[in-house]
Amino acid sequence: MSQSLPILDPAHGPSFFGFSRPRLADHLRDRGLPGYRADQLYTWVYQKHERDTGQMTDLPRALRTQLGESLDMRLPVSAKVLSSPDGNTHKFVLELADGKRVESVSMRTPRRLTFCISSQVGCALKCAFCATGLMGLMRNLRAEEIVAQVVAMGEFHGWRDDRFNIVYMGMGEPLANLAAVSESIRILNDERGLHLGARRLTVSTSGLVPQIRELAQLDMQVGLALSLHATTDALRDELVPVNKRWPIAEVLDAVREYGRTVNRRVTLEYTLLGGVNDGIDDADRLAEIARTLPSKVNLIPYNPVPGLPWKRPSPEAVDAFAQRLYPHAPAVTVRDTKGGEIWAACGQLGGLSASA
Ligand code: SF4
Repeated sequence: MSQSLPILDPAHGPSFFGFSRPRLADHLRDRGLPGYRADQLYTWVYQKHERDTGQMTDLPRALRTQLGESLDMRLPVSAKVLSSPDGNTHKFVLELADGKRVESVSMRTPRRLTFCISSQVGCALKCAFCATGLMGLMRNLRAEEIVAQVVAMGEFHGWRDDRFNIVYMGMGEPLANLAAVSESIRILNDERGLHLGARRLTVSTSGLVPQIRELAQLDMQVGLALSLHATTDALRDELVPVNKRWPIAEVLDAVREYGRTVNRRVTLEYTLLGGVNDGIDDADRLAEIARTLPSKVNLIPYNPVPGLPWKRPSPEAVDAFAQRLYPHAPAVTVRDTKGGEIWAACGQLGGLSASA
């Protein structure tokens, strides 16, 4: 599997955020420095939240200068931060070194802070209801560009929360960029770094079967969320076109096996589109699917995107769908759709401001 190498900017050196700790140690050794300095650097940046090597007081002064010149500690420029009126949701439009933009979202509830991060600029999969899909795929993100989104949001929030969750559910199909996504997971997971346990990390997919199996083999124990959105192949072919390649039964087999391998329930994401997939029959079929594997169902009332024909169902229709599911499906939640006012909600990223 190819690894994403840190971006090399001749003026600043490769990005620190693309290095796993073992690879950082190798990088330092190649420059004649002791490998254990990697542990110190990780602690300074990820645990003490200090990106200025000049302030890393337990390192010799000459080394601080040398590191400052050979590692790029900069984050993407925050081109825009939009905040919801209640101040609990923020959308970050981040500008990358090549001028491309990605969006990340932080969402606070009374119980937790969650960062939703992007894995690609745009997306090739063209799900019928998704603003990101309308952009097409511009490029994969590199591991450092994924990790940097987390650090940028952590800094924005002043690192007040030492426990937060990460969902790979922003722009792009994470499993279409598995090498960089898995490297970013290793970095976020590192005990000398942010030390985000696998229980705090969830990767979503629209159903790339070979990559679901590959992720299981990587044994990272992260949560998996399948963007199901339809219960028949005829409708899913229309809503999630990758279904034509890997139909529902095949995807569910892979997801079931993933859940078994990592010993975790998988999440079935189901966007409710008014008059399209929110009928009683749909609810019954969804319950039937959910019962075939250890799972929880997450219902997401659709967030309208201008130019696309889909409607959000009425609150009564959402409630009727959920009520029909409750007695028959193992666990059901209705996502309180955060951030609709600032175009930060699911399926809306890239809708307003992602294009460079
Ligand atoms: S829903 Fe996800 S996989 Fe589908 S087009 Fe949008 S970003 Fe891509």
